[in-house]
Amino acid sequence: MKLAALIVAAGRGERAGEGTPKQYRRLMGRPVLAWSLEAFARAGVEEVVVAVSPQHADLAAEALSEATVRLIPGGASRTESVRAGLTAISADADIILIHDAARPGLGTTTIQRLWETIVAGAAGAAPALPIHDALWRGQGAGMEAVDRALLSRVQTPQAFRASIIRDAYAKAGAGLFADDIAVARAIGADVTLIPGDPRLMKLTVAEDFPVLESLLAGYRFTCVGNGVDAHRFGPGDHVTLCGVRIAHDKGLIGHSDADAGWHALVDAILGALGEGDIGAHFPPNDPQWKGADSERFLRYARQLADTQGASIVHVDVTLLCERPKIGPHRDPMRARTAEVLGLPIERVSVKATTTERMGFLGREEGLAAQATATLERPR
Ligand code: MG
Repeated sequence: MKLAALIVAAGRGERAGEGTPKQYRRLMGRPVLAWSLEAFARAGVEEVVVAVSPQHADLAAEALSEATVRLIPGGASRTESVRAGLTAISADADIILIHDAARPGLGTTTIQRLWETIVAGAAGAAPALPIHDALWRGQGAGMEAVDRALLSRVQTPQAFRASIIRDAYAKAGAGLFADDIAVARAIGADVTLIPGDPRLMKLTVAEDFPVLESLLAGYRFTCVGNGVDAHRFGPGDHVTLCGVRIAHDKGLIGHSDADAGWHALVDAILGALGEGDIGAHFPPNDPQWKGADSERFLRYARQLADTQGASIVHVDVTLLCERPKIGPHRDPMRARTAEVLGLPIERVSVKATTTERMGFLGREEGLAAQATATLERPR
């Protein structure tokens, strides 16, 4: 059974404030859209299509760190975006999950349960929560009680047999529908409701962000990793540190570009993930890493964190050397590191110290770096 997912992210999200549409704003340091993508990746969903507004293509590309997803232009309404997405999904998909980008708190358990429900024979399935508040219609003398036991709060993803939801959308016409269940019901398809998840709350207004962050925090734990690296000086005319080329009267000797700052940082991220060290992932005797740009290693560490559903909260790199002077390059180093890790610059620290001319660093035989990375990982 091939599982495909369509994420609808074409909305303007204006009620959430701040100018940027809510699906691209950051939630615990990562774009809202990235959360759902990672959940689908972790659950082994084979194909993911994201419907985005063409005017926000840059924001969307930034939220998608890897190319395992396909962006397509969304339509003027949610219904039109879903229709476009269903056309873009491969014909061999057996089950299609349709999900709103504004519900980033997606867990793999929900995806698994939806899949099981369809495999067991349902035409459609969706997570739903009971209502605990009393419900009344109208006010004053005309107030009428509503039986909450008859009602559910239905979330996304909503899962369907591919043939059924394609057929339903083909017959749906130009009408506006509340969700995909409404479209499926219009052709008489039966939909099974499964237990919902409070974390799947929809981000609508700005106040929803801290509420969801505190909900998600209970399902996550903080890990701090550290990394150390050193390289020997040799002949050359520059060094590369934290991705920035600095003119110098020596070079650094190493199998790759010898960027000790980023090597220490990669080790810190791997440490926080419990994933060994840089040498285990990129063996120094492997000729393909000869002279390699260390950006590849840092991007790899970020991707590894992403695929584990972890988010990098903050990184701190300390460079240890007498020369070259780091101060003038500190901000470009922060900016490069922030860019590669997809972090705002406030979450990236780069600093430097000398060793007061003591030891191998003081004698300028080489240069060293140490780094700390703080990550949030799912429980
Ligand atoms: Mg190194």
